[in-house]
Amino acid sequence: MTVDLAPRPAPTQGCADTPVLKERGQREVFCGLTGIIWLHRKIQDAFFLIVGSRTCAHLMQSAAGVMIFAEPRFGTAVMEERDLAGLADANEELDRVVARLLERRPDIRQLFLVGSCPSEVIKLDLAKAASRLNRQYFPQVQVLNYSGSGIETTFTQGEDACLAAIVPTLPAETADAPKSLMVVGSLPDVVEDQFARLFADLGIGPVSFFPARRSTDVPAVGPNTHFLLAQPFLSETGRLLEDRAARRVPAPFPFGAEGTTAWLKAAADLFGVSGDRFDRVTDAPHRRARKAVQHYRDRLAGKRVFFFPDSQLEVPLARFLNREVGMRLAEVGSPYLHRQHLAEELAWLPEGTRLSEGQHVDRQLDRCREDQPDLVVCGLGLANPLEVEGLTTKWSIELVFTPVHGYEQAGDLAELFARPVLRKQRLEV
Ligand code: SF4
Repeated sequence: MTVDLAPRPAPTQGCADTPVLKERGQREVFCGLTGIIWLHRKIQDAFFLIVGSRTCAHLMQSAAGVMIFAEPRFGTAVMEERDLAGLADANEELDRVVARLLERRPDIRQLFLVGSCPSEVIKLDLAKAASRLNRQYFPQVQVLNYSGSGIETTFTQGEDACLAAIVPTLPAETADAPKSLMVVGSLPDVVEDQFARLFADLGIGPVSFFPARRSTDVPAVGPNTHFLLAQPFLSETGRLLEDRAARRVPAPFPFGAEGTTAWLKAAADLFGVSGDRFDRVTDAPHRRARKAVQHYRDRLAGKRVFFFPDSQLEVPLARFLNREVGMRLAEVGSPYLHRQHLAEELAWLPEGTRLSEGQHVDRQLDRCREDQPDLVVCGLGLANPLEVEGLTTKWSIELVFTPVHGYEQAGDLAELFARPVLRKQRLEV
């Protein structure tokens, strides 16, 4: 069987030097607490204790609606008016809540105190609280803290802040440690297993995944650690790993057939894997992925997509949609553009693509209305109003809740974008 490979644009500098429209204004994004939804599934012996208000508790319950089971692994220590008014000692209350929780749940090995807008507004020092509680409970339980507050952040920064809190606690490599690969960024277990098999077939190792499924399986870090980012929103985590002498492997992100191959190739080159072996291992899954994407390319090629800044996945996804699915890019907006981490991705975007960083929602809405794209990728808050205006939307948050990395998920990733477009076409018939 032959696979119709999409024509590739001639190599150019792409958008490496394209000026970026910097936007500062009103923002429409979820807060970093949202990351707990996928992080608590990943780190299976951790508990995320949000120190927040009833609003935070409601957000988590509606976002994670289906996950109200017997022993949940996240919860909210709700600050009442007395706490907010400074009438109660919030630290004492927090110590009491933690003691009760750890007594009831001996399975918890890692406890995150997660800050919120209210805890930041009353300046509750969760770093101090975590170190006090850590002295009390470590080594049975490691207590860490990070902020999931929505003040000046976007929802994927919650994962960055969480992993950044763990990095200083990773053990140091021994002096004779071999060269190792650390894949950084939370991946669904099924995707992690697929990548682990590919690395093993390529003869690359030792390989660790960070975060690990169990908090006690953390990888060591040092000058022989080379880390490969699996997510584009981990700027602080990357910086802290580099502070610990680990080296980043420059690569695009593993979305789609092409992105996944280039991501694996970056690791393969570092470990001296021969071209023959690389092709032998990757050819079949690469072709499978292209074939799965082709099915949607037939429906989406030529259509125009507009990205509002939300998940920080926008640049790699725009590259995938343009190069593998054949879509045209009206605008690619991202909350933050990390030029170094995104260098390979930006070089793959067509020259002249309109890039924007940050948000000024009114101006972006104006541009979107003027463009009248076939598909708008945006946050939940903008989707309904835009649908009412006749535009077709895709919620960007779905892209972090669904397994989309790697070869076997390439077709599913294309389908996520095709579904709303095809539904609209059916409705119009
Ligand atoms: S952390 Fe802030 S933005 Fe997030 S739910 Fe709580 S109050 Fe709202």
